[in-house]
Amino acid sequence: MATTKLHGGTAAGFRRMWHDLEALGVDGDSGGYQRFALTREDHDLREWFAGECAERGLDLTTDRMGNQWAWWGDPDAALAAGDPGVVIGSHLDSVPDGGAFDGPLGVVGALAAVDQLRHDGFAPTRPVGVVNFTDEEGARFGVACAGSRVITGALGADRARSLTDRDGVTMAEAIRRAGRDPAALGRDDETLARVGAFVELHVEQGRRLVDLGHSVGVGSDIWPHGRWRVDLPGEANHAGTTSLAEREDALLGLAAMIIAARRAAEGEGCVATVGKVDVVPGAVNAIASRATGWLDARGADPDAVLRVLAQVHDVVADFDGLVTQESWTPTTDFDPALVRRMATRLGGLPVIATGAGHDAGILANDGIRSAMLFVRNPTGVSHSPDEWASADDCLDGIAALADVVTDLAGAGG
Ligand SMILES: [Zn+2]
Repeated sequence: MATTKLHGGTAAGFRRMWHDLEALGVDGDSGGYQRFALTREDHDLREWFAGECAERGLDLTTDRMGNQWAWWGDPDAALAAGDPGVVIGSHLDSVPDGGAFDGPLGVVGALAAVDQLRHDGFAPTRPVGVVNFTDEEGARFGVACAGSRVITGALGADRARSLTDRDGVTMAEAIRRAGRDPAALGRDDETLARVGAFVELHVEQGRRLVDLGHSVGVGSDIWPHGRWRVDLPGEANHAGTTSLAEREDALLGLAAMIIAARRAAEGEGCVATVGKVDVVPGAVNAIASRATGWLDARGADPDAVLRVLAQVHDVVADFDGLVTQESWTPTTDFDPALVRRMATRLGGLPVIATGAGHDAGILANDGIRSAMLFVRNPTGVSHSPDEWASADDCLDGIAALADVVTDLAGAGG
């Protein structure tokens, strides 16, 4: 475990920040969070972040996409000296009905780690940054990690601006309403150059650390994953007067696809999910004339994921349907030397892969030295109000993060 001994003030600050955030964007009925990009709730969260940074005397800047970066030390002077900063942080937005930890743990944890380093009297030899990435979950506009994707150019500015929410509001319009300039969107080399290393603290979205008996682990890589749209044709007709033999029911093909994806994933050691469907006309007493499902498939081995997809293709072809790839992300490796260095420094922490995408993965794909720390989640559940981590485990994560910054932004880093 981390050698850093947490100061009582760090723990108290963590609890206070957590308490402040609990009330923001929560749904009273479900207990889940509705914190979507470029909304009133998002504005409140950004203001909260700015306030915490101001209280610590950190210099807050906003990049071309609106991601918030708060600096302890001058990142540009350091860059000019060839010594870019060490950045920690995560995101504050949520999925619909999301949990409290996915994202906020990394932001609150980063601020608490800064408090800890100051209690320790740590004098960084290079600047330390805390980032709040915007729109990580893609809950409103459909593209995950939009904040980091836009500034790295992985998501083009024109495409980002034209993304549309369920009410028909484009991202460009939402940015304008939030008082920012959609014309500014694009790759942001100035911001990226300041980041010499990025470490994201995050709640684990699974139970590996429970099984391994550790409160904290180091992330090694993100599984390859893809999304496919599957369209099945049919013919609308009356549910009472059309004989079974005469029907062209689009939903039968979709149902067969969903079961085939599940079986194939079981056989290949992957995971496959159809969590969203669209049925036309969508009436109880009408046979479906069109059915669309979105397949999400991931696994440790990219070839195995593609074999799942091949089996899905076969079934869909039997029903004269169409499979369209919407995205494919190969395995993302975090910086192997950084991963080893962190695991060793932290006393031999377990190194684990994750099936979920993160801003740290987007930065890693852009060539930035990146890694993650995961905090044990006893429920294993994520993207739900049941997502949880104990305060002690969160504090272990913060101690580990402070220790990593001490290493990377210290004299020997
Ligand atoms: Zn997250």
